[in-house]
Amino acid sequence: MGDMTEEQRATLWERLRVRHTELQRMIRAVTAGANRDSMQGMGGEVGDSGDESMALQLADLNLAEMESELWEARAIERGFRRFKEQTYGYCSECGCAIPYARLDAYPTAERCTPCQTRLERVHGGRDTTPSV
Ligand SMILES: [Zn+2]
Repeated sequence: MGDMTEEQRATLWERLRVRHTELQRMIRAVTAGANRDSMQGMGGEVGDSGDESMALQLADLNLAEMESELWEARAIERGFRRFKEQTYGYCSECGCAIPYARLDAYPTAERCTPCQTRLERVHGGRDTTPSV
């Protein structure tokens, strides 16, 4: 199926995996840091059920700061799903095969260039694909 060779697909899959691992590590590092700071702020007391929700709130706060990383991680996860569904590399709008050069530059691309350009004109730049 499609214009991509198996080797090209494998290359893109590997790049998505590596990048996803990297993002997960960054997100975890920030969340872990937030939890540590919150423990210090509370004098090191751990154990109450209240502490857990506090840590969760702080984690949420930091995750908001990491919005772009989270957004990218989600885009990559959609890519994984598209690989499984064998729709990876096809435009989600018009169904055409996305040129390999575009996927090579943007492995998470879900649309061909014309469809993406049209979408950006409507939504003002950001990919607003619903995650479902
Ligand atoms: Zn298209």
